[in-house]
Amino acid sequence: MFILILGAPGSGKGTQGKILAERLGLPKITTGDLLRAAMKDGTPLGLDAKKYYDEGKLVPDSIILGMIKEQLDRPEAKTGAILDGFPRTAAQAELVDRTLAQRGQRLNHILLLDVTEDELVRRMSARSQVEGRSDDAPEAIANRLQIYQRDTAPLIAHYTQRGIVHRVPGTGTVDQIAGEIKRIIGR
Ligand code: AMP
Repeated sequence: MFILILGAPGSGKGTQGKILAERLGLPKITTGDLLRAAMKDGTPLGLDAKKYYDEGKLVPDSIILGMIKEQLDRPEAKTGAILDGFPRTAAQAELVDRTLAQRGQRLNHILLLDVTEDELVRRMSARSQVEGRSDDAPEAIANRLQIYQRDTAPLIAHYTQRGIVHRVPGTGTVDQIAGEIKRIIGR
């Protein structure tokens, strides 16, 4: 089963994705974590990505599409995965759809974490105190919210047409939201 967790930055995708992946015994593929690891290790991809990342801009598809393909092709992701942080653009969505279709698979569920913008800003600002992420700085936060609306939110319509989008209220405790997701997925 392939499940995509979609939502604005700060909506709790990482937290809920982890809980879901552990419960279902599926690997979680997180492009943000892969980029952070590549930047920390100073790989060529990490160095290329860093200037976009630090400003809160999307890392260009020319860099990210190869990473997505490689992750989907890993043996661990043969029968399912939780996708966290991608697809984020139309080109990424096409790649995911095409890669899965070639294997006779498809995205089964899209969980859309619905959180108000005030709450998103509050959470990312709080996280910057704890984790010190460069892209949780105020200007980067503003960029990320704007880019989400422009580039990523249109994917909701694309997937809604297929009837696989579930809107999950992203407020409440972590456990309450996890419980709601469990009810939606049916396990
Ligand atoms: P995240 O951890 O998902 O909030 O992502 C943090 C940052 O990593 C984003 O602001 C982008 O700069 C970059 N990033 C993560 N995933 C992607 C993606 N699928 N496409 C482009 N950039 C991404």
